[in-house]
Amino acid sequence: MSKVLVVEDDPVVQAALVHALTDLGHVVQAVGTAVAALREAGTNELDLVILDLGLPDLDGVAALRMLRGVSNVPVIVATARGAENSVVSTLNAGADDYIVKPFSSEHLAARINALLRRTGGSAAPSEVVVVGDLSVDLAQRSATLGDCPLALSRREFDLLAYLAQRPGRVISRRELIQAVWGHPYVGDDKTIDVHASWLRRKLGETAAHPRYLHTVRGVGFKLAAPE
Ligand code: CA
Repeated sequence: MSKVLVVEDDPVVQAALVHALTDLGHVVQAVGTAVAALREAGTNELDLVILDLGLPDLDGVAALRMLRGVSNVPVIVATARGAENSVVSTLNAGADDYIVKPFSSEHLAARINALLRRTGGSAAPSEVVVVGDLSVDLAQRSATLGDCPLALSRREFDLLAYLAQRPGRVISRRELIQAVWGHPYVGDDKTIDVHASWLRRKLGETAAHPRYLHTVRGVGFKLAAPE
């Protein structure tokens, strides 16, 4: 089940789309203008947008550019037959697929399923890194150790995520400062050591008895599953 936004100003086409998509098991919202679509996309988590290119308030390319400014949601543009130019420009403006009107609900369903398969069925496809019992969800920015969610600050999460994506590798302080903090390295290790010690505490371990987060003296840090 996905949350789909239909953007279509023709009430008959809009009703038909809502009906077809609801039948396919999606949760459907419908609006008739680009402005309303932008408002929905900016405030709601959507899995897919079906966007009519001929809207009364904005042309399709402008609507799509503005939509892309607020959301990475997959977009299928619906266009009238023979409008190849607008198809090319909307694909360039960030549409994921297009469908030519009039189309059957079977055709639409096939396009939707293919797109949702490609995009993981969600606006925020989850990418999870697992190291031992530690699991770090990069898209959701959450981490768990065993069954326990870890309450991490933004920096602690960034530090953990960076290390977890490079398990077993010793990462220098210089690299961490640049990658996680986005600062040039000026030889001040205090920031990183403080965050590492907070992170370590949240992982339930100590520097003297590390399980996941290891300090490599004089070099940096390493994250690895316990033996
Ligand atoms: Ca229209």
